[in-house]
Amino acid sequence: MLSLTTMTPALQTLHAVFGYNDFRGNQAAIVEHIINGGDALVLMPTGGGKSLCYQIPALVRRGVGIVVSPLIALMQNQVDALLQAGVKAAFLNSSLTGQAASQVEQQLLRGELDLLYVAPERLMTPRFLQLLERAELALFAIDEAHCVSQWGHDFRAEYLQLSVLHERFPAVPRIALTATADTPTRHEIVERLGLSEAQQFVSSFDRPNIRYRIVQKASTRQQLQAFLEAEHRGDAGIIYCLSRKRVEETAAWLAERGWDALPYHAGLDNDTRQKNQQRFLREEGVIMVATVAFGMGIDKPNVRFVAHLDLPKSMEGYYQETGRAGRDGLPSNAWMAYGLGDVITLRQMVDSGEANEQRKRLERQKLDALLGLCESTLCRRQVLLNYFGEQYSAVCGNCDNCLEPVQTWDGTVAAQMGLSCVYRTGQRFGVGHLTDVLLGKSTDQVQRFGHDKLSTFGIGKEFSQTQWSGIFRQLVAAGMLAVDMEGHGGLRLTDESRPLLRGEQKIALRKDPVSLGKKPKASQSALSSKAAYRFDSPESEALWHALKAKRTELAREQGVPPYVIFHDSTLREMVERRPQRLAQLAAIPGIGKQKLEHYGEEFLEVLVDFA
Ligand code: ADP
Ligand code: ZN
Repeated sequence: MLSLTTMTPALQTLHAVFGYNDFRGNQAAIVEHIINGGDALVLMPTGGGKSLCYQIPALVRRGVGIVVSPLIALMQNQVDALLQAGVKAAFLNSSLTGQAASQVEQQLLRGELDLLYVAPERLMTPRFLQLLERAELALFAIDEAHCVSQWGHDFRAEYLQLSVLHERFPAVPRIALTATADTPTRHEIVERLGLSEAQQFVSSFDRPNIRYRIVQKASTRQQLQAFLEAEHRGDAGIIYCLSRKRVEETAAWLAERGWDALPYHAGLDNDTRQKNQQRFLREEGVIMVATVAFGMGIDKPNVRFVAHLDLPKSMEGYYQETGRAGRDGLPSNAWMAYGLGDVITLRQMVDSGEANEQRKRLERQKLDALLGLCESTLCRRQVLLNYFGEQYSAVCGNCDNCLEPVQTWDGTVAAQMGLSCVYRTGQRFGVGHLTDVLLGKSTDQVQRFGHDKLSTFGIGKEFSQTQWSGIFRQLVAAGMLAVDMEGHGGLRLTDESRPLLRGEQKIALRKDPVSLGKKPKASQSALSSKAAYRFDSPESEALWHALKAKRTELAREQGVPPYVIFHDSTLREMVERRPQRLAQLAAIPGIGKQKLEHYGEEFLEVLVDFA
């Protein structure tokens, strides 16, 4: 271990306050740069450790660090977590009473704060700017800096005014941070915040602890349940669905089966939403079934899985939503069920939407990229990162395609059969009818249209109904078939299908697992062998639960979320190292000075009792 005297002030602070031994990735360089008074733009994925990049300099430099954050709901949690670590932190936003707010302002002026979180609309008032002129300022941190982007989803008009900070306080260093990866957004941030002189620190957007997995839908709920049972008993997680109805139904279905699942969507009244969100944050092991309305502003670090029962609309959406898993760096799952219905629904939604043609083209491209990920036989991480412009040529060993390589087969003839069937039936029928024709089933509809007389009638009997569904799904995903706009799911040929029909092109298709349907064998596969959370013995498991119970008890007493007491990773280290003395406990990452003083004895008691 380094001795205190050889440590930089930044490292000393990291150690004493947060209980960590080393900086990660770009953190050390960023922290030094800000401490020395430079401006910075920091691009780092969720869970990468952005907060320390401004918290440490704010502690090391004289004066208070002002943190601009758009998410009022999060300020309280961040301040709670800092207070636990012994940092003098406070926030100012519309949730405070006038009296509470003026107390914070007094603290600010007396120089009693290390960090002050402020909502942008309050920061930019003339009154508050004047107040700041009377205080000593260590830095400005602009969190969620992509909110300046008018093209993004989180645009905040007040963010545009933040360039004023530089003009009013030219000597105070600024650090803008975001987890939004794309280059256009980065340029926008630089331009709108006047950061052209700032040094840019770009991290890899890989989230190595997240295991990506995309399964073919068979009986979605059973598949979900099997996944949860095999890998996530007692874990907190988020399940995303497209519609409010599906959210309600899925939450109820899980709750009936004993899972602690709650619904969340914009149609619920405010009280219910608040209550459910609080339970998710404050209790252990709650599953939130939600629409995309849930997530922005969830900084719970121990979300162990994110499951998608419906497809998001783009890679950006998929990356952002799955990114809510495993902020604490511990192994976590991103699990998605995907099927023919998803492809058809989403294609239809884009085509029949209100947007103009240019916008639709963009949406189509985004959807295509996502369908490409779903159908890909390559490493999912590679496809994902390459989409965001990051070179990643390795195979990750932590996604389904790496762990259980996909088999492909030459689907050229099958695809030709499917496509000609579409053509011969007049390019207006859906997959159900097309499959009936291919399998030679004389249904009423087949007879009514005389399709039992077609040359394609019964030519596809060598494949099952399920296989045909997989073949059509892949043809739609590959853009060889388009979905009609009237909403009946009718398919027609596109230009892309011509070379294949003329025999000039071959197509390799994924071999979908045949055993899907009745009993998904998730628990036996290589995929769950390194499941998110496994202890080496039942005894370790029991200690883990005892430590969690202690954490919950302490959190309840203070009305804070359990993870602000200790992160899962800290408790896990306790299970592994079994410290029996205070000095041993102090060496565990995540236990700084104040936490050791406040909670050391109580956790030690649990550990000693156990030994
Ligand atoms: P972000 O804001 O980028 O999503 P956070 O700042 O919330 O990420 O950090 C993510 C997690 O990583 C937190 O649990 C944090 O305590 C932990 N962490 C960050 N930096 C370090 C470090 N240098 N050593 C150990 N843990 C760290
Ligand atoms: Zn991989």
